[in-house]
Amino acid sequence: MNRECSRNLYDRALSVTPGGVNSPVRAVRPYPFFVKRGDGAHVIDADGNRYLDYVGGYGPLLLGHDLPQSVQSALQSQLADGPMYGAPAEVEVELAEFVTRHVPSVEMIRFVNSGTEATASAVRLARGYTGRDKIVVMQGGYHGAQESTLVQGASGRTSEPSSSGIPSAFAEETITLPFNDAEAARELFEERGDEIACMMTEPILGNYASVPPVDGYLETLRELTEEHGSLLVFDEVMTGFRIGGLQCAQGKFGVTPDVTTFAKIIGGGFPVGAVGGRADIIEQFAPTGNVFQAGTYSGHPLSLTAGLEMLRFAAKNDVYDHVNGLGEKLRSGLTDILADRAPEYTVVGQDSMFKVIFTRDGPRDLKGQCEAGCQQNPDCPRFDYCPKDKTDVDRAETERWERLFWPAMVEQGVFLTANQFESQFISYAHTEEDIEETLEAYKEAL
Ligand SMILES: *Cc1c(COP(=O)(O)O)cnc(C)c1O
Repeated sequence: MNRECSRNLYDRALSVTPGGVNSPVRAVRPYPFFVKRGDGAHVIDADGNRYLDYVGGYGPLLLGHDLPQSVQSALQSQLADGPMYGAPAEVEVELAEFVTRHVPSVEMIRFVNSGTEATASAVRLARGYTGRDKIVVMQGGYHGAQESTLVQGASGRTSEPSSSGIPSAFAEETITLPFNDAEAARELFEERGDEIACMMTEPILGNYASVPPVDGYLETLRELTEEHGSLLVFDEVMTGFRIGGLQCAQGKFGVTPDVTTFAKIIGGGFPVGAVGGRADIIEQFAPTGNVFQAGTYSGHPLSLTAGLEMLRFAAKNDVYDHVNGLGEKLRSGLTDILADRAPEYTVVGQDSMFKVIFTRDGPRDLKGQCEAGCQQNPDCPRFDYCPKDKTDVDRAETERWERLFWPAMVEQGVFLTANQFESQFISYAHTEEDIEETLEAYKEAL
């Protein structure tokens, strides 16, 4: 593949932006391809190469790159009416009503401009509501580029910042736990539950190779937080309106958080974020409450129009059946291929998310294993080998994934997220033939 134009663009970019990119995950080696345009389930780079796209903007593009006519006309009409006002507009009420109708735990919602802003606001809200300072997050969880959650440290102990530029005083208020470890959570809450403002977690560790919860784990978190007067915050920035369709992951898993953060899909490809939850909690935000939260662009009419029309389209059409059906097909195809070529590797993902984790060990006998990706089923022969938390994923062949496998897929025209950790997404624009082609590429690259 010729990538001369991308190479030249990267050369220029390196002189004027740090690492040549505006978000570090995009700085793939030796240099990223620059996208000229999207086309359905494909992206086309600056040199005219076509790639089947499973990055999907890292999550927002539920429908792929071609917006349906209804979304396009609504956007054009909003553009014609001006980009934003600094006064409320009807679309803010409409999208809020749509979300509260479909996500039962959300009675009220505040729109912001990114997932990071949503989680930062949710943490401040939980602290304001409870009058406590400590928060708990999962090791390997991701809640955006914000002070309180960019932390690392041993389970149940005080953390340290995982980025320079963050005062250690911030990290001291954050405690981490290993995902799926109910005992560690129970111990922590018994010891210092009355200091904890909230426990924030993704329902699936979507930013750490999509580790799913074991049976009963999310329920345990629900019970512990309730018992100790802490808030349970689900960060559904990735899973919201992706896993479990319109009811989101909380509906699929049947666990009701107090507060939920959204972004990605609810902006239809435009910048957005939101914090939703019980009315008595969300009303702690200014102007009704004392938790200050504000933004010039918050509730931006273009983002909200794109999100609302995309979600309306998904509600009226077979979007979730289509993407989840293809997800099932892709994950079972991958499971079969791995049985043959790399039986130690693990397929993960649910609905329209998927990933292959390059785990180093697997069962001798694969008979009766989960057919379309790990479900943390204790009866599956792979159960003891399926990653349960960050430490398990870190033991995988992450270098092989990134240095050998990913480039081999790109060479075959399949664009996956560039490391072992980020999830991959199927869109409404993908077809059965795309899935076949992708399986062939995996066969070749593994
Ligand atoms: C993407 C993501 C974020 C950060 O959202 P941004 O819009 O990139 O700031 C936070 N939490 C989760 C679970 C995410 O997947």
